[in-house]
Amino acid sequence: MNYYLGIDFGTSGARGIAINQQQTVVVQVNYSFSNQINHNLGAYWQQALYSLLEQIPLVVRKQIKAIAINGTSSTVLLCNGAGNSIGESLLYNDDRGKLLIDKITNIAPVNHVVISATSSLAKLFWYQQQSFFQQAKYLLHQADWLGFLLHGKLGISDYHNALKLGYDVDNFCYPDWLQNLSFSELFPQVLAPGTPVGEVTPEICDRFSFPADCIVCTGTTDSIAAFLASGATQPGEAVTSLGSTLVLKLLSKKKVAASQYGIYSHRLGDLWLTGGASNTGGAVLKHFFSDRELQELSPQINPNPVSSLEYYPLLKPGERFPINNPNLAPKLSPRPDNDLEFLHGLLLSMARIEALGYGKLQELGATKLTQVYTAGGGAKNFSWEQIRHIYLQVPVIAAKNIQAAYGTALLALKAI
Ligand code: ADP
Repeated sequence: MNYYLGIDFGTSGARGIAINQQQTVVVQVNYSFSNQINHNLGAYWQQALYSLLEQIPLVVRKQIKAIAINGTSSTVLLCNGAGNSIGESLLYNDDRGKLLIDKITNIAPVNHVVISATSSLAKLFWYQQQSFFQQAKYLLHQADWLGFLLHGKLGISDYHNALKLGYDVDNFCYPDWLQNLSFSELFPQVLAPGTPVGEVTPEICDRFSFPADCIVCTGTTDSIAAFLASGATQPGEAVTSLGSTLVLKLLSKKKVAASQYGIYSHRLGDLWLTGGASNTGGAVLKHFFSDRELQELSPQINPNPVSSLEYYPLLKPGERFPINNPNLAPKLSPRPDNDLEFLHGLLLSMARIEALGYGKLQELGATKLTQVYTAGGGAKNFSWEQIRHIYLQVPVIAAKNIQAAYGTALLALKAI
């Protein structure tokens, strides 16, 4: 039997999922991150990675043919020529680069995705001002560096992770305005996600009893891995994530970008994964209802009759997608005395915003919506699914799998 291993480094923990050739999960292992890590994140990730590998039963490990790893987008570190991490690793949401944004605005095209306090490029500009920068040989994303620990090759990334460094996915190169920077030699070489990089090193092979020809591939980011896991593969298919926020991703033949709405596209083979994130979502539901109340009340909602309540559910002012208005006020009134009616109004309003979001992506040129897979905490709400179907006018179904590690295991399977 051949197995394929996907490893997900997410925001709260790391997971590993091994699948067989039929894409069935054979093993799942987890590692929860401690809240108390404040130094040497690199060493901590290495420990997490090795712990995951050790938890996989030996009989499975011995038959793993390919491994791929995903990390959180824009989580980066510097390392020296020996691959040792230097200075601090910077997490996806670290915005210390905000004071250097002007430097990026001066060189990058207007509205480019790197013009953000948390982009990998902003982090690199921050690194440049640190004393340890002199020792740096490579800037790597979390997934690149973890891959290196297994295959031993430094300076290799994929074009999902490299998007927020400024890599040009249309032309498969770093644009001139990046190449002209004094530190451009630190940039990793960029390959397609899921490209075989090399076999596991002899040390890793011995330590974990992998087959000697086990291949390690380039990875992806956690949110793209979750999309891959959903089962969506065709242009027009989309995944709505009903988590704390409402995140839409639509697979399209045409690339779509509108940074004022926070919309950009990742390349996915010959297609484009386009999407946007609204500030409405489960966090607003959670503010008013416990998970248990949501579970008890939702089935009592009749999805068909339209409620007169038109909300824009937000916890604080400000929205970017599908309406770009940093001052947009939350609209949560009138609030009926009856909780069921209130919940009905909230679910309808979020369904309306979801439909507006897909409308916006299509208006900007994305392929026509044909089917929506649902992921996140709200995916288990059948009444909401029916309401959303009425607004979206296309089939709405649960995602095949919602685990990023599963999507990354598919990437490893397809690499062979
Ligand atoms: P996160 O984005 O934080 O990872 P999750 O995917 O774990 O979020 O989803 C959590 C959200 O799901 C919470 O905000 C909660 O209000 C919402 N949620 C939980 N159960 C239900 C339900 N039955 N119907 C709708 N929303 C729900």
